[in-house]
Order: sequence, then structure tokens, then C-alpha cells
Amino acid sequence: MLKSEKKIILIVEDDPKNLKLFRDVLQFKGYITIEALNGQQGVALAKEHKPDLILMDIQLPVMDGIEATKIIKHDEVTKCITVVALTAYAMPGDKERMLAAGFDDYISKPVHIPEFLKKVTEYLDGKNKVQ
Ligand code: MN
Repeated sequence: MLKSEKKIILIVEDDPKNLKLFRDVLQFKGYITIEALNGQQGVALAKEHKPDLILMDIQLPVMDGIEATKIIKHDEVTKCITVVALTAYAMPGDKERMLAAGFDDYISKPVHIPEFLKKVTEYLDGKNKVQ
């Protein structure tokens, strides 16, 4: 596989409007996006492409984002990938629940685009520092 200089971001999202929004802003910023519409597909694409970052919706068909992230974080091939929850959940305790499942961080939906892109850049920069 050719090593691209461009960062690859996997978006796991079942809402077409949200998916389009995330795809458009990330591609505009020069990132390569790959997309999954459910958690099971997300796990498969994470293993196949080893993206630099995974943005994971929580409520998904077939397999939800919590279950998918648990699998990703327990697989030797994918466990080092940063996984960020994108969710409309805003109840007290939700953030703790996400982090317990293995998520590295949490962004509330609806997202504020400039803040969202700033965080994405920070996650990708953080990855570079570790390597
Ligand atoms: Mn959803």
C-alpha cells in the first residue's frame, strides 16, 4: 500500500446529513475520509485501512458505537487508533460511560465546526508526537 502524506479519517455515522457534513468539512481540510454506516462495518474498515483517527457515532444499526469501539480497542491491529465519540448524548455521566468503553474523547452533536476541526487537528498532532 502506498504511504500517503494525507491523514485518513474513518467516519462511522448512520445519519446521511451528519455524514455529509463531516465528510465535506474534513475533505475541505485535505483529509482523506472513509465511511461506515454501522459499527460492524466500522470495525472492518478500521482493520483494513488502519486510519489515523476514527470518529464514531454512538447510536448505529447492526452494532452500536460503544460495542464497535470496545472491539477496536481490544484488537492488536487497531487498539492504538484514536477513537472519538460523536454523540447527541448530553446527560450527566455519559462522558464517563464513553471513556469507560475505550473512547479517547467525546464531541457533542450538533458539532460546532471550527471547534470540531480544531479538535481533529489536535488528535492527529497528538498521534504524531507519540510515534
Ligand atoms: Mn446514529
